[in-house]
Amino acid sequence: MKEALSRSSSAALFSRALKVIPGGVNSPVRAFKAVGGEPLFIQRGSGSHVWDVDGNEYVDYVCSWGPLILGHANPQVVQAVVEAAGKGMSFGAPTEAEVELAEAICAAFPSIEQVRMVNSGTEAVMSAIRLARAFTGKEKVVKFEGCYHGHSDGLLVKAGSGATTLGIPDSAGVPAGFAQQTISVPFNDMDSLARALDAMGDEIACIVVEPVAGNMGVVPPKPGFLADLREVTHRRGIVLIFDEVITGFRVAYGGAQELYGVEADLTCLGKIIGGGMPVGAYGGRKEIMEMVAPQGPVYQAGTLSGNPVAMAAGLRTLKILAQPGPYGRLKELGRGLEEGAKELAMANRVPVRVNRVASMMTIFFTDRDVTDYASAKASDTARYATFFRALLQRGVYVAPSQFEAMFACLALSQEDLQATGDAAVAAFAEVRG
Ligand code: PMP
Repeated sequence: MKEALSRSSSAALFSRALKVIPGGVNSPVRAFKAVGGEPLFIQRGSGSHVWDVDGNEYVDYVCSWGPLILGHANPQVVQAVVEAAGKGMSFGAPTEAEVELAEAICAAFPSIEQVRMVNSGTEAVMSAIRLARAFTGKEKVVKFEGCYHGHSDGLLVKAGSGATTLGIPDSAGVPAGFAQQTISVPFNDMDSLARALDAMGDEIACIVVEPVAGNMGVVPPKPGFLADLREVTHRRGIVLIFDEVITGFRVAYGGAQELYGVEADLTCLGKIIGGGMPVGAYGGRKEIMEMVAPQGPVYQAGTLSGNPVAMAAGLRTLKILAQPGPYGRLKELGRGLEEGAKELAMANRVPVRVNRVASMMTIFFTDRDVTDYASAKASDTARYATFFRALLQRGVYVAPSQFEAMFACLALSQEDLQATGDAAVAAFAEVRG
């Protein structure tokens, strides 16, 4: 057993945080509740590495939950941010950078003719749903179990007892009436969706989906699933919303829509388009987007929306990603990690399913294929927790929950991969017990 790393400075900060911040964190998963132990307080990041306040160094596969596809503190991005900040932090008035970022997004996604910037993924999806309701004149929303679309009231729902029943709140404080506007059906299951549509199709404004699920761990769409969603929504006059907050500029420059060749009516973006700054966006066909205020009747606004410093970070990130090479390299990195994990799991006779799309991946501790929320939930979370802690102890930081993605970034080096492999040899052996 390795000697335990000192985490006394993180522990001291956590106890201070617990007094003044609910649960000591500003977003629940950071508290490490799913894996045990206490959160690391991070001091700095550079490239593929982060350092905690005790000076421990880690190869980082969380990457701020996806945005940092270039790695931490990329010099070009930092320079763009510093330059922008030097000219003023915020104006609440239009700037050139937001036009350029909007142009870059429209160029990357053929389905997006116009795009509105917001400050988070939550805001992007919430706003896209309001727009879909206005556009169709209908109120109900269909989502898929295990997909996460931010913490707005109508989306914090769990499925009722059958595919055709209305959702029930998945958080205290969500009015039952709001949750009842949302129908939740199993991911990758067109039969359940068809039953829901047969029962309530005339009332449905939109279907919202993570085209590659990342929030139950990575679950790819089954072949044809996205195309079937496209067909059925088109036929029934339902707005199809792809929540590409994770997948946009991640699985391909043009997101899951490029990778799978299926176009959405509305697309939600976040994470990478802000290069590590708080940015979200929603966009789509002009005919729909024209309904947004001030042009149309759908109200949506933001003091800091299109913030020039955030736009500069996003724009520089996209400029780097648009050059030839990044996505081939990211795919190679992902493939290497997948193959390594599978080999080590097999050598240790630890049953796993490794789901990966490009550079996003989850190692599920289960002997069943993971295709939806129910099969993801069948994973052995105690084994994941052991795996997580064993990696962390050896300087490798993966998501502190079985039901999240790990991300490869472009800053990963051969030495990082070697170190990750060495740590994983020991971690799988610990899981085997
Ligand atoms: N949609 C998806 C697919 C997400 O993964 C997330 C956050 N991880 C959100 C929406 C919400 O984004 P934010 O945390 O920026 O509000």
